[in-house]
Amino acid sequence: MRLAQRVQRIKPSPTIAAAAKARALKAQGVDICDLTVGEPDLDTPEFVKEAAIQALREGYTKYTDARGMEPLRKAICHKLERDNGLHYTPDQIVASCGAKHALFNAFQALIDPGDQVLIPAPYWVSYPDMVSVCDGEPVLILTTEENGFKPTPQQIADAITDRTRVLLINSPCNPTGAVWERELLEEIAQIVLKHDDLFVISDEVYECLVYDGRQHVSIASLNERIKERTIVVNALSKTFAMTGWRLGYAAAPKPIADAMAKIQSQSTTNPTAFVQVAAIKALQEPGDFPRKMLELYNFRRHLIVTALNNIDGVKCRTPEGAFYAFAKFQEAIERKGFKDDYELCDYLLEKAHVATVAGSAFGAPGYLRLSFATSEDTLQEAARRIKEALA
Ligand code: PMP
Ligand code: GLU
Repeated sequence: MRLAQRVQRIKPSPTIAAAAKARALKAQGVDICDLTVGEPDLDTPEFVKEAAIQALREGYTKYTDARGMEPLRKAICHKLERDNGLHYTPDQIVASCGAKHALFNAFQALIDPGDQVLIPAPYWVSYPDMVSVCDGEPVLILTTEENGFKPTPQQIADAITDRTRVLLINSPCNPTGAVWERELLEEIAQIVLKHDDLFVISDEVYECLVYDGRQHVSIASLNERIKERTIVVNALSKTFAMTGWRLGYAAAPKPIADAMAKIQSQSTTNPTAFVQVAAIKALQEPGDFPRKMLELYNFRRHLIVTALNNIDGVKCRTPEGAFYAFAKFQEAIERKGFKDDYELCDYLLEKAHVATVAGSAFGAPGYLRLSFATSEDTLQEAARRIKEALA
């Protein structure tokens, strides 16, 4: 059967695929320690569920404005002002079906065939394929563990060509946990502003998970000029453990927001109406849920990093943000005679019943990503099994 070429240019999301594989094994009764998919193990807070139930009862069951209902967009503006020092008006906001959808709209709105998108690597699995679907060219900027998995300003300046249209920033980063400091963002903003028509897409979905007193800084908050060149993307998925609800949003200069809304009006129309009402509640009165999650995940972060560093041939730096341990298994891979991290990943799943995601999926061969958004017991047992399997 002949399918469009764009289908052949991409692969299914490896994180979603790894999670599906683990889930299938669990369904067969295999006792799997699942450290694959990146989503909080906590349930959505009760007050958000109640708001959705009430919204359903009140009849929020119809189409809304394609950008999301006005009260939601106002609540998003309020949140951006309160948490990020960003001033937007509701006509600059587009609510979508998750951050993934917001990112997709942003690429669709900006990328023409052959345009380049700079993506620091290791990167979240979906960025390069999203760019490819839009006929763009992903250009990787390879960061090193020694530099904390952050690019240097020089690397970014050197990578820019007359075809570069977008620089992707994901801080805190999935999979490395890197949190980009204000100084780095300031230097990058200066570089971006030297080039007409170069935009930043800033994926801030892990903003609530920054550890050790660090501060999340949105590049758009540095000054008005860089804000005019930035599309801020965020979601309720991580902050309120709402991955399955599918609600994300973008804040952008009005012409870009209009373009994204136009595209969305021809695809999904609006995110689910009653989810929008629940999202207003969460954004307006977040309560202490995000802070409690941060405390819990901070504890688990130390637990898994310590346990991994106790395994011969494994080295894991302490992530600054998000909920992933991104550990170097290269020595273990060589010692065991595996071809690569994919083979190690399969081995750990089949022999130790520990499900992880291979670093190669994030552009980092020799690494594994282990989500610590799971129970302490699972983390401890996973580390024990990995140690045993690699002994
Ligand atoms: N960006 C990053 C960096 C992610 O890890 C994820 C995965 N949840 C997304 C975007 C997509 O988020 P959502 O579930 O809101 O679509
Ligand atoms: N972002 C999460 C992850 O990296 C969820 C899966 C996905 O959307 O790719 O595991």
